[in-house]
Amino acid sequence: MARKKIIAGNWKMNKTPTEAVALIEELKPLVANDEADVVFCVPAIDIIPAVEAVKGSNIRIGAENMYFEESGAYTGEIAPAMLCDAGVEYVVLGHSERREYFAETDETVNKKVKKAFEHGLTPIICCGESLTQRKQGIYIEWIRMQIKIAFQDVTAEQAKKAVIAYEPIWAIGTGETATAEQAQEVCAAIRGCIREIYDEDTAEAIRIQYGGSVNAGNAAELFSKPDIDGGLVGGASLKADFGKIVNYK
Ligand code: PEP
Repeated sequence: MARKKIIAGNWKMNKTPTEAVALIEELKPLVANDEADVVFCVPAIDIIPAVEAVKGSNIRIGAENMYFEESGAYTGEIAPAMLCDAGVEYVVLGHSERREYFAETDETVNKKVKKAFEHGLTPIICCGESLTQRKQGIYIEWIRMQIKIAFQDVTAEQAKKAVIAYEPIWAIGTGETATAEQAQEVCAAIRGCIREIYDEDTAEAIRIQYGGSVNAGNAAELFSKPDIDGGLVGGASLKADFGKIVNYK
């Protein structure tokens, strides 16, 4: 069975609530496409107006992070139940910016992945290597380790519904995209790792995105690769180009 593509925008720390609604209204007609799942991952404060603004469209809303506890004394954090109640369906976990600036680790990502599944949220689990790791030729081992820890104690039924985003750190926000061959190599290795942890069915079901300077010009080639099931898009998700990425064919 062919996997449905999933194309998600990661807005990062951009757009006020008012600006978020305006961008959604602009993009709504441009991203209408039933062949792919379309997700806008937006800043926490934009979630409620964004959920309202996408009603009746094919766009689904994702969060950019969440905490792994249910509730309590965790000032500044957002609980999974809060996201669900607000109408969020996806959550980006372990983005390299959160790992770099906010001390996210493979272990906290694993706790968040399990908690997301407990609440019926679909995690978009990010992994990816630094330029040094790529140059040293250790990127596959590194990413396999990230995947194995992220999926610790996650069942096959849950894993089938997960989304993995392979995002080489050297390609994020730099304008330097991995070649389609480089991206395919790693996405195939990730699928192989899932096959080892679980089984063929799980490996075939799980969706693996590529992220890192995806734009309207390179999306078609990247998304045509057999193990690349769509993209996680940063900069280009904030403009009309995102419509072209969603309608890449
Ligand atoms: C991202 O934020 O996940 C990302 C890939 O950013 P960009 O597309 O801007 O490189």
